[in-house]
Amino acid sequence: NITFSKASFKDFESIPDLDVFQRAGIFKDFTDFMHTDGQMNFRFVTNGCGPSIEVRSPYHDAPKECVSLVSNDYLNFTQHPEVKAAAIKGIADYGTGAGASPLIGGYHTYHLELENKISAFFGRPKESSIVYTTGYTANSATLLALLGEKDCAIVDMAVHASIYEGLLHTNIKRFPHNHTDRLERALKESQSRYLTRLVIIDGVYSQDGDFARMDEIYALTKQYGAYLMVDDAHGIGVIGKNGRGCIEHFGLLDKVDIISGTLSKAFGHIGGFIVSRPEIANYLKFQSRQQVFSSTATPASAGLLKAMDLIDEEPHWRYALAKNADYFKKGLLDLKLDIGSTESPIIPVKIGDAHKTAMAARLLFDAGVYANCIVYPGVSRKDARIRTSLMATHTREHLDKALNAFEYVNQKLKISKYERHT
Ligand code: PMP
Repeated sequence: NITFSKASFKDFESIPDLDVFQRAGIFKDFTDFMHTDGQMNFRFVTNGCGPSIEVRSPYHDAPKECVSLVSNDYLNFTQHPEVKAAAIKGIADYGTGAGASPLIGGYHTYHLELENKISAFFGRPKESSIVYTTGYTANSATLLALLGEKDCAIVDMAVHASIYEGLLHTNIKRFPHNHTDRLERALKESQSRYLTRLVIIDGVYSQDGDFARMDEIYALTKQYGAYLMVDDAHGIGVIGKNGRGCIEHFGLLDKVDIISGTLSKAFGHIGGFIVSRPEIANYLKFQSRQQVFSSTATPASAGLLKAMDLIDEEPHWRYALAKNADYFKKGLLDLKLDIGSTESPIIPVKIGDAHKTAMAARLLFDAGVYANCIVYPGVSRKDARIRTSLMATHTREHLDKALNAFEYVNQKLKISKYERHT
């Protein structure tokens, strides 16, 4: 019997090797303890997406109104009346489900329209795209289908977990985050040894909010005859003059070999996609197991067609988001908090120690601000942080309430750059 006397995320790692049902039993004790002790704010229940939402712990019935800093619904399109109306119309026109996997009968007009629309959004020929059930699946399924034991993936260490899952059957070389000299070394070392070499990066990194050094990475990739895949899940719809993402920001819209994106963030829905050359999209439609054996987008995805139009028709959402991010960053910097090198609406407040970060999340919650506590394995062990992400619909009052809460947490826990010792 393990008793969790002092809450620590480390306790989780000390659960011994046992039959998985026994392990799960101990794990349940652990999560119960962390929840009741207030150290854990994962899987809180909320009433939906918005700048201010009702949040409750699964252990407490009373919800609490909180400023939300947890959502990737950056433009708040989940609540946009025209997006909702289009989603409802999709259901009215087609029903509620896809009915089968796309290869064998579950490929409907709205799927085709969606793929064509995504291709056009990136200025590519019609047949360049494929839609998956989630962004996670788009990454893992695509890589599993494209790369085998004679190929090699050269990845920035900070890429998303879904990329790693796609690399289970291929060779991997990893380079430290954004270290282009180490990328070059990997490109040199791998020359003539593999059939395909695919460099894989994110556009915006999901925990630090910084950008890939994409221009340099693209140039190196081409210099050494490799291909480039960019997962721009957090950039598309948000970054770039026309909201086409980090890839647009670096002027590489027509050059990146494989673009991966999600429909669950700026577009306010669920789903993922790949944009590449038409022959790659076609290959995936037949060779990717998740297209053959699993269904994709539901008819409510028709709402996405509207969300994509709104990126062009209503750019003010994007501008408001950028303004909010600037305001919030400045406020946190004025408090001397460590926000790393973010260039996006993802703004980390770096604390270091996991226990202290959990306490900070709890104090924020007490002050009516819901923000995520990110610890290992989400980030490396000594790099725990509060992750905040902003929305276009946050008002100055919301942001000031959140900044006041951070000031309060800093007074209590001394998390500022100059005072923290972890
Ligand atoms: N890529 C990145 C960089 C992400 O942060 C995420 C989601 N957190 C995904 C892909 C997966 O997206 P989805 O939620 O659509 O599965």
